[in-house]
Amino acid sequence: MRYVSTRGTAPSLDFAGVTLAGLASDGGLYVPERWPTLSPDAIAALAGLSYVDTAVAVMMPFVEGSLTREELTELCTAAYGRFDHAAITPLVQIDHDQWLLELFHGPTLAFKDVALQLLGQLFERFLKGSDQHLTIIGATSGDTGSAAIDAVAGRAGVDIFMLHPEGRVSDVQRRQMTTVGAPNVHNIAIRGDFDTAQALVKAMFNDAAFARRFRLSAVNSINWARLMAQVVYYFYAAVRLGAPGRSVAFSVPTGNFGDVFAGYVAARMGLPVARLVVATNVNDILARALASGDYSSRQVVATATPSMDIQVSSNFERLLFDLGGRDGAALAGQMKGFEATRAMQLTNAQRDGAAGLFVGERVDADDMALAMRHACETAAQVIDPHTAIGLAAARRHTAPGVPMVTLATAHPAKFRDAVERATGVRPALPARVGDLFDREERFTVLDATYDAVSGYVAAHAVPRG
Ligand SMILES: *Cc1c(COP(=O)(O)O)cnc(C)c1O
Repeated sequence: MRYVSTRGTAPSLDFAGVTLAGLASDGGLYVPERWPTLSPDAIAALAGLSYVDTAVAVMMPFVEGSLTREELTELCTAAYGRFDHAAITPLVQIDHDQWLLELFHGPTLAFKDVALQLLGQLFERFLKGSDQHLTIIGATSGDTGSAAIDAVAGRAGVDIFMLHPEGRVSDVQRRQMTTVGAPNVHNIAIRGDFDTAQALVKAMFNDAAFARRFRLSAVNSINWARLMAQVVYYFYAAVRLGAPGRSVAFSVPTGNFGDVFAGYVAARMGLPVARLVVATNVNDILARALASGDYSSRQVVATATPSMDIQVSSNFERLLFDLGGRDGAALAGQMKGFEATRAMQLTNAQRDGAAGLFVGERVDADDMALAMRHACETAAQVIDPHTAIGLAAARRHTAPGVPMVTLATAHPAKFRDAVERATGVRPALPARVGDLFDREERFTVLDATYDAVSGYVAAHAVPRG
């Protein structure tokens, strides 16, 4: 399988190449040059498989040429060995037609572990035998950072620099990043919001001199391997609810459009997906874009769902590329316009293409709290605020006879204060996070300027040999 950039000019790469590169050199994102498909028979055959065997069947076409089936199986077995549930991503029924897909059974309590535990294994595999040192740079609104740090802490040949917006992540999220203590982990709290952190990371990738000096890599969902790993659980859940004989709808609490884009990939691969509900909080750029074609960024509002406090959804570019006829030059123009004005209009092809599958829903704080109480009262389920945004949106789009699966993206203990405010229940931290509140924190606070951040990274990273 070869991968092409959404902006049309970066060289095409194989799977190992896109995994290590992250962002394409023309500023675009890598996507497979074509979508592999699974026939209805092949999907039906997934029904009896374990999570790891499902993962191998779904991901094999994407890694062809870089990994053998045996190697992929070995990496998946290692990646999912640290989850605390034998099903890895179990389904929980909460109503006649409603399910939760619990994606938070990994080491850092959010769905990011599903992809990042695998990415950690892939980095190690693809760096083996090379003397290249990898400098991973990422921005996090909370969950990517802890999951990525857990996945690479202490690994040889890798340093990780993680930017988070100072004071805008929960105490559990921050401590999961800052108490790790491994010498290859560098936490930076920036005086700014998440979009600013993300823009600083992109700027380092786009700084040609900087990128020549260090071998940079990304762990944000701009990295294709992350999205690929997330496609798996759409298949795993849907076949358990009757696919391919029955269509299944999903509601996805959305920030950077990575998780829900993985659902789109599953649909392109042949999974019968009835609907993808793009659930947003009041930072509703995606809901507006899907409803009216207006993709214009506003000021970010801080909410109880920090992982969704985003006004520039980087993976939306992948959808616009695919729906716009895969015209890299046209998309590069469209994105340059957006970067200059923070606003753009979707083309008719992009709008019509999205309308068939996606529907956007904005959920405010009151409806979020109601959904948390509803899950408690009707199904005895304590859910986190992000999941509650997804569930509130799901309830507006449930059609009789079509199973609706809300992606439960974080463990409620990760957002204990918000859960307690809404439900009166204070969820306990699971044993697998250990003595989080007794460990010493380590991080550096920096101004949100390019010079401050790139200077810090340059002073602490290992240059190319
Ligand atoms: C990252 C995250 C999201 C948003 O996922 P995207 O892939 O960025 O759309 C939602 N909920 C939680 C808990 C997250 O950590």
